Amino acid sequence: LDDRDGKIWMDGELVDWRDAKVHVLTHTLHYGCGAFEGVRAYKTDKGTAIFRLREHTQRLFNSAKILRMKLPFSIEQAEEAQKAVVQANALESCYLRPLTWLGSEKLGVSPKGNTVHLMVAAWAWGAYLGEDGMAKGIRVKTSSYTRHHVNITMTQAKTVSNYTNSILANTEATDDGYDEALLLDAAGFVSEGSGENVFIVKDGVIYTPDLSAGALNGITRNTIFHICQDLGIKLVEKRITRDEVYIADEAFFTGTAAEVTPIRELDRVQIGSGARGPITEKVQTAFFDIVNGRNPKYAHWLTLV
Ligand code: PMP
Repeated sequence: LDDRDGKIWMDGELVDWRDAKVHVLTHTLHYGCGAFEGVRAYKTDKGTAIFRLREHTQRLFNSAKILRMKLPFSIEQAEEAQKAVVQANALESCYLRPLTWLGSEKLGVSPKGNTVHLMVAAWAWGAYLGEDGMAKGIRVKTSSYTRHHVNITMTQAKTVSNYTNSILANTEATDDGYDEALLLDAAGFVSEGSGENVFIVKDGVIYTPDLSAGALNGITRNTIFHICQDLGIKLVEKRITRDEVYIADEAFFTGTAAEVTPIRELDRVQIGSGARGPITEKVQTAFFDIVNGRNPKYAHWLTLV
């Protein structure tokens, strides 16, 4: 990923992709105090547009606030940086990765005395869990790793260090031949995937864990709430048990990278018909209509670059 043409925005400047480097004594590399975002831009009739740019940028600043990192840029500057990166790399549709990190002025657990940095990169990235998975559903395994408790690392911050838990869970699941992991919270209730929020469908109602289960407050999750309202589908946030997923009619993951990905199996137990369910398909179609600019009601969620 590091050896290619293009530009990366780094601390206020567009630099050549190959020159976008940090020192090995960077504090964040050692102790994991950093925050990032995953954002997507889609091709629309009016041109390339970043989906829910303000919400993603606000979450990045919230993550930094939770970590007590003072970003030396405003939200507006961070938004302009994201637009600039999509433009500079002439991308029609892409994934964007803003990241904030601490400099290499000093090591030791205390981050005090280190400068705070911000970068944004963007590149083309297709279906995160595969095109096939999008249409047919993926196979998921309940993780042997517990999701972060709400008072260990902060679960509403999209921090670098939170992802060690995600990496362990995803590696375990994929090593065992599954596509993704489903993590339970410290009390044993369903929380989320390694990089996705989870939803189940039962008797026409959609359920998703409430955020006390330690899941990230996903922006796609919130988009699904709007879609459900538009489609007249009841949506309930509640505690969900692992066996409720086994006996659900349908299940799906959501996330900026994963978009809306159906789940067809959990722990080798077939969910519903074992294929993308009809309600999942409706939600998925509505989602892609919104992000691709085909639903005027949500034009305000699309920022043209
Ligand atoms: N949970 C985790 C752990 C994630 O990494 C992500 C992806 N950012 C999500 C949920 C979904 O969040 P969003 O829809 O905002 O991308």
